Amino acid sequence: MAKRPAEIQAANVKLLEELCQPGDFLPAWLRAAVVRETFKATATCPSCREIQADRGNVLKRDLWNVVGCAKCTFHEPEECYGLGVVVHALCNLQNLMSEEWYHQAAEHVFKCLSATDKIPDTPDDRNARLAELIAVVGLAVGIRAFYRSLPEGLLEEPPIPAAMKGEPRFSSAAEVFKRLAPQEGHGWGVGLAIDDLKPGLMVNGAKFVGEEFSKRKFTPVSPMNKWAPALSTGGSFLRWCSVLYSPIQHGYETHNFMFKKAPGRALNRVGLEDVAAGYTTAIGCSF
Ligand SMILES: [Zn+2]
Repeated sequence: MAKRPAEIQAANVKLLEELCQPGDFLPAWLRAAVVRETFKATATCPSCREIQADRGNVLKRDLWNVVGCAKCTFHEPEECYGLGVVVHALCNLQNLMSEEWYHQAAEHVFKCLSATDKIPDTPDDRNARLAELIAVVGLAVGIRAFYRSLPEGLLEEPPIPAAMKGEPRFSSAAEVFKRLAPQEGHGWGVGLAIDDLKPGLMVNGAKFVGEEFSKRKFTPVSPMNKWAPALSTGGSFLRWCSVLYSPIQHGYETHNFMFKKAPGRALNRVGLEDVAAGYTTAIGCSF
């Protein structure tokens, strides 16, 4: 296999493995179930498609109820452990989301997870778990879309690995964040300011240095800001997209990095954005 496709394939395999490992707050078995549900439901769930077809009549603030009343088909046990309604909305209806949906989803995720585990009853604990779930679904959608955009036979879609054993890294948001909140004027999803990370935070037995989360990415205007609360999964995203997309760390985030080609790449970031805009417009994606 040529160097670049091999590099991309390896990054996809690694990301899928990481998605099926224990997360910061979600257990591996649940993350793996969510990945499988996302692969099966994205763009194919007939009920989600019906909602999309009638989107002109959907009130965004009412999306939670719209999905709740739809008869989605779930592929994992117990409607994907109760989280299927959140997964389907994330993978199929993101253009219809609203702040109201976000708060209802955070509450619902808390209720589902509380059924099997004792979770601290705080807004940060709800939001941190929703942020991780969103990150897992978003990345699974990304890998799935990548393989479906390729001509047949170019690269083989890797199988979804079995869930790894092990507990989530943390049991409370207070272990990780001083606070987690939407930042005034920059959308309604929670973001994270780097100064609000707990000092001396340990991740996987090592002090968390957040090399991939530079200060720029933690600022409210950065689209990366919404990945930051999903700490470890956000880190996986940044490493993965530095291979599949344009490198966005280690010097390629300077003011001229939009025009600077990384070694071995055919396009700079402006070129990639141009291609991405053409693709997402063609498929009606609103990410
Ligand atoms: Zn659905």
